[in-house]
Amino acid sequence: MFYTSTRDKSLRVTSSEAITKGISDEGGLFVPCEIPALGLSDIAAMIPMSYRERAKKILSLYLTDFTPEEIDYCVDGAYAEGKFDSEKVAPLVNLKGEANILELFRGPTCAFKDMALQLLPYLLTTASKRAAPDKETVILVATSGDTGKAALEGFKDVPHTRILVFYPVEGVSAMQKRQMQTQEGANVGVCAIKGNFDDAQTGVKKIFTDKAVAAKLAENGMMFSSANSINWGRLVPQVVYYCSAYCDMVEQGRIALGDQINVVVPTGNFGNILAAYYAKQMGIPIKTLICASNSNNVLTDFLTTGTYDRNRKFYTTTSPSMDILISSNLERLLFHLSVNDDAEIREYMDSLSRTGKYTVSDDIFEAIRADFKAGFATEEEDAAAIKASFDLGYLPDTHTAVAIEVYNKLADGTPTVIAATASPYKFPKAVLTAILGEAPQIDEFDMSDELSKVTGTKIPAPLAGLRDRQVRFDSVSEISEMEQRVYDMLGI
Ligand SMILES: *Cc1c(COP(=O)(O)O)cnc(C)c1O
Repeated sequence: MFYTSTRDKSLRVTSSEAITKGISDEGGLFVPCEIPALGLSDIAAMIPMSYRERAKKILSLYLTDFTPEEIDYCVDGAYAEGKFDSEKVAPLVNLKGEANILELFRGPTCAFKDMALQLLPYLLTTASKRAAPDKETVILVATSGDTGKAALEGFKDVPHTRILVFYPVEGVSAMQKRQMQTQEGANVGVCAIKGNFDDAQTGVKKIFTDKAVAAKLAENGMMFSSANSINWGRLVPQVVYYCSAYCDMVEQGRIALGDQINVVVPTGNFGNILAAYYAKQMGIPIKTLICASNSNNVLTDFLTTGTYDRNRKFYTTTSPSMDILISSNLERLLFHLSVNDDAEIREYMDSLSRTGKYTVSDDIFEAIRADFKAGFATEEEDAAAIKASFDLGYLPDTHTAVAIEVYNKLADGTPTVIAATASPYKFPKAVLTAILGEAPQIDEFDMSDELSKVTGTKIPAPLAGLRDRQVRFDSVSEISEMEQRVYDMLGI
């Protein structure tokens, strides 16, 4: 199988090249030239399998230049026993009636990013051995909170790699900030910037595609790659858990093999829901992909009108990992829905960077309406959804609650999988405030203890004790200084 670029469909690269490079030279994203098919018999065969076995099956369909031994090595390392605090890795919990929660936050940083970022370092080092031997890979990350920590944790002390993370100084929770500031490892760097997530992402993308910067790295035996969800190696592990969740739905007797399900995904950069789209295109019986947004509802508007318009107020919400106005991975969906029309995609993306908006063709809009529904939750609705869900017996985090609220608005009786993307203990202040109805006057770290007391739930081990860990990184930079910070951190 080969991969091409959303902005140059004449390109043909292997999965190793796509993962090593992260983004295509002309700024496009790598996509599979065709999407592999899973028949019902393939799905049936996966039902008795463990998560690791299911992952190996799906990855082998996409990473055809990896040997079976390499895939075994990558998957067994990423999802090794003890790394996730559930034997099932991504367990499926029945919420009530038709709704089921897919818990994607049982990894070492308590957010769903671990599902991909525990695997990506294995994929990347295996791929770059083939595609770019003898080079040190420099991972640059822009984060709205969870990616940064998960990437740091995945790449820490991985030989031949360096990892540098930029985060918006006011745009992450106290818990998220502390998780990054206390990161261990000899090859890691963390820097806060004065700006929002889109500033961080735009800055990283600029550094990433700047030829002079690339040349300077090359002189030092280094090359960039990306751990953001623009990297194909981030997306493909996420396709796995939607296939796995479908198998679990059948195994738990919630549906019969072949029955359709809906999937609700709390969305920011459009990566997680795009993975669900790939699962659907492969043949997993998914009826509707429901895109859930917070007050930054640019995707709700786009999916319901066909016009993407980022010219709007940016809200800092209690679900910061979804505070995004430019959803990078949408470009991949548009490429597929335009039936690989790279010229059309270039036009949209050009219009987006010039005017901040674009309107898709009638054909694309119709295709979107066939597969997607979209809704959003306000801050008040999000808090109410946390409380209501807790009263029903399940304590969600602020992002998951966005999905639960949108599910409540758009449910159509179809058995549904709701992606739960973070532990409530990553956002103890907002969750506790929602439960109590008012913000308690204590610091965010005491709130974890209080949340545990009030709800009778346990603080996940990776978050307990965070307060007392040594802060290693506390510098704050201007956006204009990002390039220099990269050189500083690399010592070049
Ligand atoms: C990253 C993140 C999201 C958004 O995922 P996308 O792939 O960017 O759409 C939602 N919830 C949490 C907790 C996250 O960390």
